[in-house]
Parts: sequence; C-alpha cells; structure tokens
Amino acid sequence: MSGSLLKVENLTKHYPLGAGFLKKTIPVVQAVTDVSFSVEAGETLCIVGESGCGKSTLARLLMRLVEPTAGRVLIEGFDIAGLKKNLLRDWRRRMQMVFQDPYSSLNPRLTAGQIITEPAENFGRLSRRQRQALAVELLRKVGMSPELMHRLPSELSGGQRQRLGIARALALRPSLIIADEAVSALDVSVQAQILNLLMDLQQETGIALIFISHDLRVVEHIGQRVAVMYLGRIVELAPCEALFARPVHPYTEALIAAAPVPDPTRIRLEVPLQGEVPSPIQPPKGCAFHPRCPLAVERCRIEVPPLVPMADGRVVACHVRAPTMGIPAEPITANSSLSPMAQQ
Ligand code: SF4
Repeated sequence: MSGSLLKVENLTKHYPLGAGFLKKTIPVVQAVTDVSFSVEAGETLCIVGESGCGKSTLARLLMRLVEPTAGRVLIEGFDIAGLKKNLLRDWRRRMQMVFQDPYSSLNPRLTAGQIITEPAENFGRLSRRQRQALAVELLRKVGMSPELMHRLPSELSGGQRQRLGIARALALRPSLIIADEAVSALDVSVQAQILNLLMDLQQETGIALIFISHDLRVVEHIGQRVAVMYLGRIVELAPCEALFARPVHPYTEALIAAAPVPDPTRIRLEVPLQGEVPSPIQPPKGCAFHPRCPLAVERCRIEVPPLVPMADGRVVACHVRAPTMGIPAEPITANSSLSPMAQQ
C-alpha cells in the first residue's frame, strides 16, 4: 500500500439547530471545523482536548456514523464520503471503534464468545467450530481466559469488559482502531493494563490507533503524535515527545501546565488555563482561544490563524507563536507567555 492509511481533509461538521418562527438566521453548532491530518499504518495518533472540543464527533465522522458537512475521509486513498450503505459496510470493517463505557457498548444478553464473533458473523456465516476458535484466539489475544467465553458482560469486571470490547474490535482484523476515551472509566491500575495491551497488540499486528482522550498522562504514555483540539479545530499537531517537552500553542502549554505531573523533577510551566471553553454555537471570532489567551493581540480577534508548519515537523495555529519564520529560537518559558507581545 502506498500513501497514508487514513487521510482526513478539511473535515467539518456543523449541526444547524431548529429555526424558531420568524428567525432569520439558524444557529449552528460548530462541532468540527476544517480538520486535516493523516495516519500511517502502525502509528498511534492521539487526539486531546477539553470536554466539548469536538474529538468524539471527529471519531464518529471518521467512522461515517455521522455525515460530514464538508471535507473528505480517505481510507487507503479511497474516499468513503459518497459510499452507499452496502459498500460502506465493507470499508468500515477496516476501522473499528472501542468505546468509553464498555458496559453500555456490549449487548448485555450475549455471552463474551457471542459478542466477539458477532461482527465476523455479520460478514459471513461461521461454523460452530470456527466461532469457538475465533473466540478462543481473541480472548487469549486480549489476555483473558477462554473459560470466560460463556460469561455475560455483567459477570465480568470493568477491565475484562474493556478487553472484551477490544477483542470484538479485532475480530474483523481492522487496519485501524479508534479508541474514544477507552480507559477513562477505568481505575488507574486497570488503565495501565489496557494501554499496555493496546500497545502490545499494535506491535504484534501492525494496527494503527487513533486514541482520543482528555487525559494528557495517558496520551503521553501511548502517543507517537498528538493533535490538540480546541473548539472543533486542531490548534497543534506534533510528535509526542516534542509536544510535551516544548508545547508551542498557548492552549497546549496551558493544558500541559494544568495536568498532574507524575515526575517531580519535571519543570511545570505556570500558565493557568482561565475561564470556560466558549459555546460551539457562537464561537469567538478570529482565534477561538483568544478570550482565554494571555498572548492575544488584536489580529487574534479578527483572523482565524492557519496551521503553520514548523521546523521540527509540527504544525501550529497561532498568530503569535507560529509566525511564518518558523519555530522560535528561544525556548518558551512561563515568562515568555507574558512577553511584551501579549501587551500589544
Ligand atoms: Fe493566543 Fe492569538 Fe495564538 Fe490564538 S492566535 S493562541 S489568541 S496568541
């Protein structure tokens, strides 16, 4: 296969709200706006942002569980946007989802074995022996005993249920798994087990992973590249190590500063994230982050900053921090956040 496994181009989803009687303009929820990125085979791309930033809508757009307002989703170079239902089903088996709440995403009336084999059954009848073999293989793959095959989801622990969700996602041998807050509902120790399982499976199968999370500790553990979203747009996309070592966008910097630090020797940037995320119904004009940004200048209130490529391979959308000359020569420190530019 040549080119990216997944390519997303200018993907947009705006939901018009019901128009009131005599209302001239219909309010629109701008859930996702002009999002572009690609994912290579075997890669982990994390998508991070506060609640309401559009990351879950983005996941559903990728699976075409919701129709985009604009933009394209190409899998192995093939645009899935205009596909009829029967053809879409075939393409969809290349991408599978693992959800946040394993309990509500598993059919409570089916046994673990039936849950695992159900997706494969939808694509062709399996004999009893084939079903049994597939269930045993996948249960083992996700670190569960095949003896659990006859248990209902209610008879499994939270961690086992999430392992089962992953086994189900693997049943169709996809090239990409989209994990939407897949460990958020689990205890910290179980979180680590599930993350390690996903990384092991990725090494073993070469599967690509889009990992969506609000938790930066988790993202730092698992990611190779990280896309930071704010109010429906990507504001910074960078290799994981570079992003955590040296965030460039003021929002990324503030998110990292606000996250708990497990390593006491690591220097924390003192950039408090103030205020709430504005409503996606009427996002601020220009850069949507400007009401919360300590660096905002007049231009930020007028123009949406484009994503600008930087010298170290990242892209950043910020009028102040990503000027076209490229990455700033001086390291960004807490003091630089309050540099004279902020007063302009
Ligand atoms: Fe802050 Fe302006 Fe950059 Fe937006 S464009 S992040 S408001 S400095």
